[in-house]
Amino acid sequence: ETFAQLNLSRPLIRATQVLKFEKPTPIQARSIPYAMAGRDICGSAATGSGKTAAFVLPVLERLLYRPKRLKATRVLMVTPTRELTQQVLSMTEALAQFTDITATAVVGGLNMDAQAQELRARPDIVVATPGRLIDHVLNTKSVDLDDVEILILDEADRLLELGFHDEVMQLVDFCPKNRQTLLFSATMTTSVNELADLSLRRPIRVET
Ligand code: AMP
Repeated sequence: ETFAQLNLSRPLIRATQVLKFEKPTPIQARSIPYAMAGRDICGSAATGSGKTAAFVLPVLERLLYRPKRLKATRVLMVTPTRELTQQVLSMTEALAQFTDITATAVVGGLNMDAQAQELRARPDIVVATPGRLIDHVLNTKSVDLDDVEILILDEADRLLELGFHDEVMQLVDFCPKNRQTLLFSATMTTSVNELADLSLRRPIRVET
């Protein structure tokens, strides 16, 4: 199977070629068709399996084939750590390099004002750790999540291990109810399944 067979647009296929991705990994081949069909996904996938591109590619595809006239933040990607936020942003920028899709990262420890200014420009995609993003929603009011069409919960097990359950639920509640949600986790613990029950609607379960 190839990326072209997954019905991805030309600019995205070109990016996979530049990145030397020869063919989809198993998690990509199994998740991308459902994600592109608008389904919620509960995916178990370890780091190194290619799970980042498994959610980034269908996200970019939706932004490309359903453009909006007004600028809005349409995708929120929640990750447990600064490092992971940076990695997810890098993969997003690499796969979006032949598009005009914009993305920004929001993490603790960096300048609030600079981040608020970037958020006010309404990037298509925001990649964030939970605490700092909530800070911006509630305090700087530089972002609202009313236009989010796709919510990604990445490394859900680590989000919970790091004590972010309530923050994640708060962010889920800030997003519209009729969004699409993709959740990925290396392990499917009881608490991850509970979070999935609270945040996903009729999810497809993808295991690798
Ligand atoms: P991840 O599991 O998302 O952390 O990705 C692990 C590594 O696999 C990253 O360095 C990606 O650049 C790489 N990768 C992702 N998808 C593919 C693919 N289809 N072919 C080859 N490498 C890939």
